[in-house]
Amino acid sequence: MKLMTERNLLIEYGKKLVTDGFTCGTGGNLSIYNREEKLMAITPSGIPFFEILPEDIVIMRTDGTIVEGTRKPSSEWVMHKLFYERRTDINSVIHAHTIYSTILAELRWDLPAAHYMIAVAGPNVRCAEYASFGTEELAENAYTGMIDRKAVLLANHGVLTGHYDIANAYNVLEEVEYCANIYYRAKSIGEPVILDDAEMQHMHEEFKIYGQRK
Ligand SMILES: [Zn+2]
Repeated sequence: MKLMTERNLLIEYGKKLVTDGFTCGTGGNLSIYNREEKLMAITPSGIPFFEILPEDIVIMRTDGTIVEGTRKPSSEWVMHKLFYERRTDINSVIHAHTIYSTILAELRWDLPAAHYMIAVAGPNVRCAEYASFGTEELAENAYTGMIDRKAVLLANHGVLTGHYDIANAYNVLEEVEYCANIYYRAKSIGEPVILDDAEMQHMHEEFKIYGQRK
């Protein structure tokens, strides 16, 4: 089978989504893009993460051609491949319906820099415009919302992150969810102070060196 390393990583991180409380059931999808092979490995549609076997992972080209696999790829595969086609800094994409990020996405709020750790994703995390799940329109909206960022909220839906590898994409997911959680709590008792642009630029520089796991 092609892309065994990628298949195993997708299974490992898919299980992590469940054990970390970031998804229940089959919500969410993960992919890794192998730039040398020009192939995307993506989780299948509708199989619980703890039941996915290496052969269930779908190996496909960004034009939609399935190279290996008998399963249907995630219904959001277009949203994944768009980033691989247009952003060379992204080789792994994770999409989930985490609680606090999705709460903000239902309000259609951007997540502001109330906590400096948001810098792993950018100076803030925008909420993209709404479109139905699984559509090209949603993929385009997510792409636009994530320009110069490593995460985006999807209106009335969830969150998406991307990075040069899956460990970092997962790290961004964790931090964005943490920031959304803390922001929600702070907002419920007062008005959080938002860090200014200069400080967030400083954080951006700091995070180029620190906080990137290999
Ligand atoms: Zn979704």
